[in-house]
Amino acid sequence: MKITSATKLLGVIGHPIAHSLSPQMQMAAISAADLDYIYLAFHIRPDSLEDAISGFRAMGMAGVNVTIPHKERVIPFIDEISEQSRRINSVNTLVFKDDKVYGDTTDGRGFYQSCVDEWGAINDAEVLILGAGGSAKAVGFALADHNCQLTVANRTISRAEELADSINSTFGNNNARAVTIEYEELQEAAGRADLIVNTTSVGMHPDHGSTPLSRELIRPEHLVYDLVYNPVETRLVRESREAGAKSISGARMLVYQGAISFEMWTGIKPSVDAMEKAVISGLTENR
Ligand code: NAP
Repeated sequence: MKITSATKLLGVIGHPIAHSLSPQMQMAAISAADLDYIYLAFHIRPDSLEDAISGFRAMGMAGVNVTIPHKERVIPFIDEISEQSRRINSVNTLVFKDDKVYGDTTDGRGFYQSCVDEWGAINDAEVLILGAGGSAKAVGFALADHNCQLTVANRTISRAEELADSINSTFGNNNARAVTIEYEELQEAAGRADLIVNTTSVGMHPDHGSTPLSRELIRPEHLVYDLVYNPVETRLVRESREAGAKSISGARMLVYQGAISFEMWTGIKPSVDAMEKAVISGLTENR
């Protein structure tokens, strides 16, 4: 690629940021589409966040991804946020346009679109969500938008209750409920689920041997989505496959949420295959 004075700048901010796969993934999309952009990672400490956003504005940056721990903290420094971001209090994509900064979240849409592409539309389904943190919010609201019945199971029950309440009050129904991660509660919830989504960090590198759900609770009819992407095949994904269930690994959501950001910045649908290849090679080479 050739960098010139016309090359547009994209990037990702986080703290830490050294292990982010976004530069490789987005550069693969840029190369595949033959666009004049470059995508870099910036290590921004929380106390420099406001200055960083002002700097990006002044520099005429085209767009930025926002990752931990800035997804909520960045909100006061931007001009407009999407309805989806407002609902989950989280921004992962900034678009700089006409002197304004617009914030949106692509996590929920990335999750949902990757389900649709692999399994078809998920509507009116029974879903067990394991975990109640930031990614559970994105997934929960995306599924609630498609009229799914949600059981949120979390180690800290108060967080599961908070998420279920917030979904129910937003949608004006009682489609979400909270349970603990006691075996009997998970057994009951898994027993009625069509789709199981792991949004906890259980099973993430270097904790390869752990799983958030006992293998005997997985049936061949289940669809299982593990948001953990490192390792590419978690114990949950492996055991789901062995149980005859269909499964998706978190690398797919990473790619899809990034693909939606890319389209917001460039107006072009990127090659998700090129992006996924870059993510998988980043995960297998460097970790
Ligand atoms: P978070 O907000 O910190 O939430 C972490 C969740 O995991 C909480 O529900 C927490 O329960 C639970 N948890 C952590 N350790 C546990 C343990 N030992 N036993 C049971 N539950 C445990 O994190 P997040 O941002 O939602 O991210 C969670 C995972 O999703 C990470 O692995 C992250 O890499 C992955 N993720 C992937 C994508 C993607 O694109 N594929 C996107 C976002 C996140 P408590 O509430 O009890 O602490």
